[in-house]
Amino acid sequence: MLTPSEKALVPFVSVDHMMGLVHHLGLPDMLRDLAQCIEDDFRRWPHFDKTPRVASHSDVGVIELMPTSDGALYGFKYVNGHPGNMRAGLQTVTAFGMLARVDNGYPVLLSEMTLLTAIRTAATSALAARHLAPSGASTMAMIGNGAQSEFQCIAMQAICGISHVRLYDIDASATAKAARNLGRSGLQVTVCSSPQEAIEGAQIITTCTADKQYATILTDNMVGAGVHINAIGGDCPGKTELHPDILRRAAIFVEYPEQTRIEGEIQQLPADHPVTELWEVITGAAQGRADAGQITLFDSVGFAIEDFSALRFIRDRIEGTEFFQPLDLLADPDDPRDLFGMLARAKPVGTG
Ligand code: NAD
Repeated sequence: MLTPSEKALVPFVSVDHMMGLVHHLGLPDMLRDLAQCIEDDFRRWPHFDKTPRVASHSDVGVIELMPTSDGALYGFKYVNGHPGNMRAGLQTVTAFGMLARVDNGYPVLLSEMTLLTAIRTAATSALAARHLAPSGASTMAMIGNGAQSEFQCIAMQAICGISHVRLYDIDASATAKAARNLGRSGLQVTVCSSPQEAIEGAQIITTCTADKQYATILTDNMVGAGVHINAIGGDCPGKTELHPDILRRAAIFVEYPEQTRIEGEIQQLPADHPVTELWEVITGAAQGRADAGQITLFDSVGFAIEDFSALRFIRDRIEGTEFFQPLDLLADPDDPRDLFGMLARAKPVGTG
């Protein structure tokens, strides 16, 4: 067999290597550095090609492609969301993604993104909270204790300085798992038996549940003045977590309105209900929290630029490490027009 030339080998980051890289960097430091990388890209928001993600819905879930480009690099993520998967022992969310050069279209990175999505979602939540949550926030209620939850807690600790999390899930075994996993994080962990108990004394409320329906994880009377709500589980048409009355009381911040109006909590509101784009808060073009009594809501659905930032971050961090393998992904004939010849030299075509 002919060996591919180096220019056609694509760095590939497997799940195993991603875990190695996270441990090498340290999760809290990685979350902090990735949040900075996302913030840098949000500051140059107008430079990006932006489109709502391309979603293929079924009765049981969704498969989505999330592309964007900054003119030099192009990135996309493939991601699914299947709330019923857990019952079959499968992940609700799995993902992989790619980064490519715009000038010649050649991929420069192929990576697992199931872990990376949890990390980038947590970094984005904490970045939003750093700009929107009441100052001095020390306690977060974490409602929904599945795959994303520990990452959310550790990001809020590393980036916003929270010291206490109050956990609740309809499935007590999920809460026990999260409490166990957070045991060595340095966070004070309280296991709660209702959402009402979880939000007691919390300045930040994160909802991260998975259910393909208009769910009501929080009702209006549960939410007091001045809290910051980080709603990440409602991210699909027909899938929300908050009662609409909460939305009417809150200042709402979103990633990309064209996508969030279809997928976020605000799908429950008229299409012209005012929202603020998070990138404008970050650049100072728009106001974040107006006063201590305001309820702020980050209606997160996950946007392609966050994945682009995460892929860019990984590409920079794996250089010179053992945490990738070169992948023979691209055909690379010596004569670019002689693709057939390359095939024939590997084994003469037509000889059986
Ligand atoms: P998961 O299936 O691992 O966990 C979801 C948890 O929610 C489960 O433990 C389940 O028992 C719990 N739950 C369901 N209904 C509940 C209720 N009424 N009250 C309390 N808990 C309840 O899923 P995951 O990977 O943690 O993802 C959670 C959600 O976040 C999914 O809907 C996913 O699509 C979404 N998500 C959003 C982003 C984003 O960028 N906004 C990124 C990743 C995942």
